[in-house]
Amino acid sequence: MTEFPTRISYAEAAAIIASTAAARRLPVERCALQRAHGRILATDLTATIAQPPFDNSAMDGFALRHADLAAEGETVLALAGEQFAGTADQPAIGPGQCVRITTGAPMPPGADTVVMKENTRVDGNRVHVLGPTTRGRHVRLAGEDTAPGERLLQAGDVLTPSRIALCAMQGLAELDVRRPPTVAVFSTGDELVEPGMSLGPGQIYNSNRELLMGLLRAEGLEPVAWPTLADDPAHVESSLRHAGNAFDLVITCGGVSAGEKDYLPELMQTQGRVLFWKSRLKPGMPVLFAEGGGLGEALFLCLPGNPVSVLATWLALGRPLVDALQARPPRPKLFARLATAWSKRHERLEFLRGRLVHGEDGVLSVEPNPADGSNRMHAAADSDALLVLEEGPREYAAGTAVEVISY
Ligand code: AMP
Ligand code: MG
Repeated sequence: MTEFPTRISYAEAAAIIASTAAARRLPVERCALQRAHGRILATDLTATIAQPPFDNSAMDGFALRHADLAAEGETVLALAGEQFAGTADQPAIGPGQCVRITTGAPMPPGADTVVMKENTRVDGNRVHVLGPTTRGRHVRLAGEDTAPGERLLQAGDVLTPSRIALCAMQGLAELDVRRPPTVAVFSTGDELVEPGMSLGPGQIYNSNRELLMGLLRAEGLEPVAWPTLADDPAHVESSLRHAGNAFDLVITCGGVSAGEKDYLPELMQTQGRVLFWKSRLKPGMPVLFAEGGGLGEALFLCLPGNPVSVLATWLALGRPLVDALQARPPRPKLFARLATAWSKRHERLEFLRGRLVHGEDGVLSVEPNPADGSNRMHAAADSDALLVLEEGPREYAAGTAVEVISY
């Protein structure tokens, strides 16, 4: 058995995750615009057409020549035609004339200003403009939003709805994106029973599977759940080898600690290549990260069994791994003020659960939940954020800004 980092800090664990993923970036694939929502863009995009493509009206009203307007009071102009959005003909205007125009319609040649309908009175073919306005008012100039050649988006950008819309405005029907990882999800433990079945003595329901499936789907992934693995080393090994040869990432929960039935560490050490085992986290200490080696090409992220440990280690390490495999840059850190004082007693870095609220000044605050056991799913479900409290004991005063990971 070879040596591997153990009992490492959160920062060290995160660095190993990042460097491993960087060496195993997933391939780029061409994807229809309609299917690209939430995916990670793989190439920089440059605008090829101006946005807007032509000078056009921002209002329903009348296009006119600003020079024709009186400096004060009303001006009467002759109605020379109509210009609607989407029509090709463009009635030009001369001195003393105006054209009825709708929002988005191209500016008629000669016109430089639009007066909104509400500021006019129409009397047959005579349009009374009720007052002066500034030159260029209510005109959207070609290229004012985007000039051709301008950088639109960068590789690594998440394709949010507004970014997809930006691509649509450029007429792009396909984008180069990273292929998302295929993920297999395993639960382990003789005590586990599926919801809907009856519970025998000493049994509990499998809650981690749905927790993980939901967390993975929230990232736009399509995870595959395996039937629960009994605590039987041969069964665990053959199932993990199957998945290790078929998926990019295998996520397990349970069986990774020091108990008699915890077979994963030995399996990963003998068959796989352990990249780290144990990080100084609370909860989540036993987390193990490995390359499959003899178990296949997949990466293996073995999370502890306690449900809140699964939540915390997924958010702290699993999600950054999935991001990095798709070359998504690290997400910005968020901070909130502690709504109440907190006394941190533990040496390890702690992911405490808490609820995000707005303080009296409207600034984001977080109310820590004192039920900090790693089995306390009720407290985790009442909460919507992890508070990241650095290593070492510390007294936190109310109002201290702490990092939060919302979920
Ligand atoms: P283990 O590391 O396998 O000893 O599991 C640690 C704790 O998490 C034990 O109390 C297990 O019963 C519990 N646990 C493990 N897997 C699950 C699961 N899929 N759903 C709910 N609890 C679990
Ligand atoms: Mg177990």
